[in-house]
Amino acid sequence: MTKAAKTRTSEEISVGEIRATNELKRILKDAFQGFFPKEGPAPKVAWCTSVGPAELLIAMGFKVYYPENHGALLGATRLANEYMGAANALGYSPDICSYLTADVGAFLQHQTPLTKAYGIPGVPKPDVLVYNTNQCREVQDWFMFYARHFKVPAFGVISPNMVNELEPSQIDYCAAQLKDLSFALGKIAGATLDHDRLAEVVELSRQTSVLWGEFLDFGRHKPAPMTFFDGCIQMAPAVVLRGTKPAVDYYRLLNDELRAHVARNDAAVKGETVRLYWEGMPLWGKLRYFSETLGGMGANAVASTYCNSWVFDDFDAKDPFRSMARAYTEIFINRSEAKKEELMKAMLERFEIDGVIYHDAKTCPHNSNSRFGMPQRLSAATGIPHLVMNGDLCDLRCFSEEQTTTSLEAFVEQLKERN
Ligand code: SF4
Repeated sequence: MTKAAKTRTSEEISVGEIRATNELKRILKDAFQGFFPKEGPAPKVAWCTSVGPAELLIAMGFKVYYPENHGALLGATRLANEYMGAANALGYSPDICSYLTADVGAFLQHQTPLTKAYGIPGVPKPDVLVYNTNQCREVQDWFMFYARHFKVPAFGVISPNMVNELEPSQIDYCAAQLKDLSFALGKIAGATLDHDRLAEVVELSRQTSVLWGEFLDFGRHKPAPMTFFDGCIQMAPAVVLRGTKPAVDYYRLLNDELRAHVARNDAAVKGETVRLYWEGMPLWGKLRYFSETLGGMGANAVASTYCNSWVFDDFDAKDPFRSMARAYTEIFINRSEAKKEELMKAMLERFEIDGVIYHDAKTCPHNSNSRFGMPQRLSAATGIPHLVMNGDLCDLRCFSEEQTTTSLEAFVEQLKERN
């Protein structure tokens, strides 16, 4: 992704130079081709939101497909804008989640980049759809579109939101929904839940989370051996393969490689002088632009809320339902403003951050934390300057490269003067 960055020498690394990435491509291809086996019966398929109860679905024998990952792929391949219009014409507003409109639009036009990437005929058809409202209501409407289209059931875990400190009653409430869900899913899977298998899958998710957290923690090293933009690529197994062994094996391989880079003091950004925190969604179609532009200024986005959102501290194989309930209700996007500020402060300290970039994503208010005074409050409390930047996860009409470059140059210059 950032291979062409002029800021790195052959001794330095970028995501294109992280050797493990070849293995990442292989395991993702395997996973997607698994929806369409050459031999034997086709698997039952569940579509799941990115922070939905994947462990339960895997344990019940479903192969899990994540439409948000497809939305991100449409963004990263810059195809999203070609498809959104079809969803808009059906009444899905251009102002709502562009993952949703790009994904639905591509579906209506029978298009998917998965065919080119993994050689599969299309998106796998669902037997069931499972969402969690822990991140936004959009996922519910998104999945209901497909439930109507495919005439299959859609089940939702309805989470308490704007959670400050998670109360035991809230955990009970979500855990009870997950248990009920297991009975409903059993009717579709044609099997009852094997509790040992669920414990095994939850343990694999726990290990994946720990290893993913270790990868992100390499950003604490000065100079950091990776960037937020590398993280956006490397996070795929934590999102779409958690609960499986290939995800665990992959992060072991990746982290071994990163450890070697840290031992050699390899820098992802040559002459790293400014350490940034990225708050909000990635701009999927502009990862290279940001990597090269910031890298060219000696600035590295060494940490982010987004990548850390798939570090789940709470999975516990001894208590699968309650630990899943806790893990999925406690995600950053689902917290109160005060809790978010507390978590952000801890991250800024942990990664020794010089400045914060807030991405105000036009079509995702839920993951844009710059609209209610948080940047100003955090800057006042920590003394760390911030920049609010307009853009979007997929809709590139909301982003101006020219304006952003000017803002970034001024911001990084300001930070350098302070250092
Ligand atoms: S959190 Fe934002 S990007 Fe994710 S599904 Fe909801 S609206 Fe879309």
